[in-house]
Amino acid sequence: MAGRAKAKDELDWSAFPAGAVTRFNRFVCLACIFDVFTKQLRLAPRTAYSDIKRHTPSAAELTGSPPARPYFVSEEKNPRCPYCNSAKRWHARLVTHRIEGGPASDAARRALMKSLPKSAGQFEVLEEKSTRQAVLYDWLDRMGRSFDFDRDDWLAEAARQYLARKQPKTDWGQVFAGIHAVRRSSRLEEGWEVDAGRLFLAPPLYHEVLLVQYLVSRSHKAGGRTFEGRLTVFELLHRLRRSGYLAAEHIEGEDQSALLDSLVAHLAGAEGAVKLRYLVDRREFLEKVKSVYAAYAA
Ligand SMILES: [Zn+2]
Repeated sequence: MAGRAKAKDELDWSAFPAGAVTRFNRFVCLACIFDVFTKQLRLAPRTAYSDIKRHTPSAAELTGSPPARPYFVSEEKNPRCPYCNSAKRWHARLVTHRIEGGPASDAARRALMKSLPKSAGQFEVLEEKSTRQAVLYDWLDRMGRSFDFDRDDWLAEAARQYLARKQPKTDWGQVFAGIHAVRRSSRLEEGWEVDAGRLFLAPPLYHEVLLVQYLVSRSHKAGGRTFEGRLTVFELLHRLRRSGYLAAEHIEGEDQSALLDSLVAHLAGAEGAVKLRYLVDRREFLEKVKSVYAAYAA
């Protein structure tokens, strides 16, 4: 995704568990910002420059969708600002990595933070409290937006992404490159195996994959789509009950929606709060603010 980034500027995330780090790419239009500061607020360019330089956007501005002025997202090589039509030299790339707190990622985060230059505001960290469920819904939402539901290959991709989240130490890209089907195993009680180009998942894992597929596709069209075809919530719950999954995982609920809530809570993992940290890379922003200011002051 980050083809335009210079390799030397990339941070090393290899020590983090997969799924604990999410990357967000944004452009910020400095023409839009300078315009507001100099024309609307009537600040002198020099004052505007020192104010803008210190500015760190909020986590919502850096990660929310869709982004609002002066932020925008573009995959183009030479994008134009969607608000003021300015060219590339007015834009700065802001890369934000969201790190989910937890025993495995906390040590890696501390080591990474120690290695980063911060003296001139090159990197900033924003903190936010969230819940495991909110993080799961956010993950489902982003995954869903990246899928083309008119093609069937998203089903396997949803399975791969869920497995990568659940068992980050396995190279699932490699596993999926060698298979052409995903099946429920009638042999395994836990884990997975590959046999003759097919990935066999133990029933609990398989059912969780169905649930993820249901959740990610249910808002798209009536019901949700899964490896087992289109299912309504009633059919999904019936299937999970009949297979013994609900009893085995101690998932209960008085009615359909309470049951679905319990399933989502189970899928999300441990109850309670999770700390999110947003590491904002401001290096290009600082460089661009300087050159844009020079152009303004000239
Ligand atoms: Zn603009």
